[in-house]
Amino acid sequence: MSGSPTFVVVGAGLAGAKAAEALRAEGFDGRVVLFGAEPHRPYERPPLSKEYLQGSAERETVFVHPEGWYADHEVDLRVDTAVTGIDRGAHEILTRTGHRERYDKLLLTTGATPRRLAVAGSDLAGLHYLRSLDDSDRLRSAFRPGARVVVIGAGWIGLETAAAARTAGAEVTVLEHARLPLLPVLGPRMAAVFADLHTAHGVDLRCGATISEIRASAGASAVLLADGTRLDADVVVVGVGVTPNVELAQSCGLNVDNGVLVDRHLSTSDADILAAGDVANAYHPLLCRQLRIEHWATALHQPAVAARTMLGRDATYDRLPYFFTDQYDLGMEYTGYAHPDVTDEVVVRGDVEAREFIAFWLSGGRVLAGMNVNTWDVAEDIGRLVRSQADVDPARLADPAVPLAEL
Ligand SMILES: Cc1cc2nc3c(=O)[nH]c(=O)nc-3n(C[C@H](O)[C@H](O)[C@H](O)COP(=O)(O)OP(=O)(O)OC[C@H]3O[C@@H](n4cnc5c(N)ncnc54)[C@H](O)[C@@H]3O)c2cc1C
Repeated sequence: MSGSPTFVVVGAGLAGAKAAEALRAEGFDGRVVLFGAEPHRPYERPPLSKEYLQGSAERETVFVHPEGWYADHEVDLRVDTAVTGIDRGAHEILTRTGHRERYDKLLLTTGATPRRLAVAGSDLAGLHYLRSLDDSDRLRSAFRPGARVVVIGAGWIGLETAAAARTAGAEVTVLEHARLPLLPVLGPRMAAVFADLHTAHGVDLRCGATISEIRASAGASAVLLADGTRLDADVVVVGVGVTPNVELAQSCGLNVDNGVLVDRHLSTSDADILAAGDVANAYHPLLCRQLRIEHWATALHQPAVAARTMLGRDATYDRLPYFFTDQYDLGMEYTGYAHPDVTDEVVVRGDVEAREFIAFWLSGGRVLAGMNVNTWDVAEDIGRLVRSQADVDPARLADPAVPLAEL
């Protein structure tokens, strides 16, 4: 790099904002240009299905930085400016408005987009998806006492949305194709905890449901099921997962496979282009595999590594996956990575019925992941257990009298 370098970040979500922050914290004094397709400055998404959606958090609390932060740190934030192309040869990006910006290093933090349902009516205007602040605003005003809300998909977003709607006094039906919510992530025993939680709060949870058609309008909507059931609704929300926004990377020939493929330093196949957050499928040195994590903590922490790599400094992203949820009076953190296919045992410490426990997923006697439910200040110990890759005694793991730190 000669003269004052320009680092461009595409995607002004949490990861993009944190990248700008990390570059300045590392002492980078060149230009930082942050492009965002949305009209807002970077904000955090977790409150959009929780406290903000429920009306208990003010709008200002969702933003990553105060309004003046970008100017104060000489970060050139361009909102409402989608980037439409990358010219790798010229080291330039092209925006929707035809503007070209040269980069020395380029970071992609383009995030993800809600998956559409593949049934008739799934793109009707009256249907809700929940990804953006504007989506949350629309739902916030639609969740009223007595409103009939149908949530399609019992993943994290679907369940948090259902909890927010119930808390607002709406009549809520949740439709899930699998036989339990969150089954692929948690396995049957822990998935049942979330099924029971929602049923106990008055949600009409219908598992094994197949949607055949949606009729959505601004007034009354209906969801038709394959078994002939018709559910009339005032609000229909779809939460069936997200797909990474890889179009830019793909169109300029970067390696893409379930996200933008990056190494442990978050570099793509082009050394001057990196990726972080929901869009990045990064090699994890501890887990020895590529992993794309669609969670807040990854978008929060990966950018510091990306910033160091952009500056030519040594940095590796090897944090364990971590995520959290809040639904009604249940708060939970999950640390590690346990695909149900490789888990041979789930050990529980505490009281599942009372929803106050830690669940550990084990394989070959080693802890792969732990989920603490309404039990706090243990995530670090769980992370240490996972990292140690040591054999643990399941009886001691289950025994609350044995401090986790001693295992
Ligand atoms: C409602 C909701 C609740 C959540 N709750 C939790 C939770 O409780 N716990 C948890 O761990 N995680 C949660 N998550 C996930 C977490 O919010 C995401 O992992 C995180 O937002 C990812 O950040 P990101 O910056 O990588 O991507 P995003 O937040 O998706 O930001 C990417 C940004 O890039 C912009 N962009 C895309 N393409 C372009 C382009 N070509 N040009 C310019 N800009 C572009 C997008 O418009 C977007 O603003 C939740 C997500 C949602 C939607």
